Amino acid sequence: MVKLVTVHSSHSQLFVDFLQRYAVYNDEQLEVMSSEMTSTLRLDAYCLFETIQQSLLQQDTLYQDFDELLLKLTNSNQIANVDQCLLLHLLRQWCREWSFALSMATKKHGQADIKNNVHRATESTSLDISKYANLFAQVPIPLCNVCTLTGNIISVNQRFIDAFGYDLDDTPTLAAWWLNAYPDPQYRAQVQQQWQQAMIDARINNTDIEPQDYQVSCKNGEQITMEISGTIIGHEFLAIFKDATQRLAAEDILRDMAFLDSLTQIANRRCFDDTLNKQLELMPKQLKPLSMILLDIDYFKQYNDNYGHVKGDQCLYQIAQCIASLLTNEQDFVARFGGEEFVVLMPNSNAKQALNTALQIQQAIAQLAIKHEYAELGYISLSMGIKTLDNLSDEGDLYFVDAADKALYQAKRKGRNAIVVSKDLYHD
Ligand code: GH3
Ligand code: MG
Ligand code: MG
Repeated sequence: MVKLVTVHSSHSQLFVDFLQRYAVYNDEQLEVMSSEMTSTLRLDAYCLFETIQQSLLQQDTLYQDFDELLLKLTNSNQIANVDQCLLLHLLRQWCREWSFALSMATKKHGQADIKNNVHRATESTSLDISKYANLFAQVPIPLCNVCTLTGNIISVNQRFIDAFGYDLDDTPTLAAWWLNAYPDPQYRAQVQQQWQQAMIDARINNTDIEPQDYQVSCKNGEQITMEISGTIIGHEFLAIFKDATQRLAAEDILRDMAFLDSLTQIANRRCFDDTLNKQLELMPKQLKPLSMILLDIDYFKQYNDNYGHVKGDQCLYQIAQCIASLLTNEQDFVARFGGEEFVVLMPNSNAKQALNTALQIQQAIAQLAIKHEYAELGYISLSMGIKTLDNLSDEGDLYFVDAADKALYQAKRKGRNAIVVSKDLYHD
């Protein structure tokens, strides 16, 4: 502590002298100089940074002390006016970037002793520092550099500000970031734990902080999903943000494609198998009946043979969509079982309710009146088999589907356009 105060007081004067050198310039001139990469102001600031950095290192002091020194000075009565305060703010920002660049260069050199590292890095990469600082500022990825000892956010780049709307004034510390970016306390606690764990894992395994998705609230209230990863550099970490919106949308599409039947635009067989298994797993907890209707188009081979496959495909689509539109109960589920067969799964529905739905489907298909001159009725019809599981003594998905299939077979034998409830015959 004593050492730090000594360090600070011995360098404050250098900064004050620097500020006084530029007191003669007006706002406009300072603004122009601050925006130029090689202005006298910037070069002068860099020389000052390097001088103090070197002497801090001789006293075995680390990067973040530099920032602390500038902060103390900003708040001290040595600062005469607003212009000086603004200049100091700018200086602080540059020094943070250069400090960060220096620490990156140190990490890159991979040496254990920080003091020696920085000496070595300072010697060999002093010209690279502004290059790294530029890289930090200009890389098209939101970045945030945090001191793990103080929890202060040392620097954020412009992409970070563009993405979230928060700058260093909004989020000077990690604590402020948590509050702003995750306003819901429950989610915030979860995210903090997730991030801490990722940091611990990274330290234990000596790896980077693994990327994970976080739902971030921006300053304008928008929510964006960000994949956040990071890298630990001594007493600092660099958080790296990647917008996950497009990746998630692509994953949604792929998931949909994996579970959607492209011809009929309803769920496919794989999706049905998954859904059935989930429902069977739920049965012991819910103690509610589960019904299945298996549906098969009558004389569909004749339809294809006489009207062609294109018409056959259109017919399959029409029927699938007709069945789907009738299922108003959110839990009810329809899928293409295969070929010209469909399946409806009805959780929490008994045989009577399933029969009722089957009758509605039968009626709706009749109303579609898809012409089929080669079938007895003259239009497309369906045969249906229904099976209901009332309890788990009827266990097993194979048994369940097989029982519905047997009922469907009986419906065909009954002359088609028929509905059979497993074991009990029903003919319309
Ligand atoms: P049944 O009344 O006994 O059910 O007779 P069916 O002619 O409907 O039964 P079958 O199993 O003999 O024929 C089913 C036909 O479904 C055979 C095939 O041409 C047709 N089919 C299966 N998948 C598709 C498809 O994706 N598109 C078209 N257009 N036809 C299909
Ligand atoms: Mg069939
Ligand atoms: Mg058929």
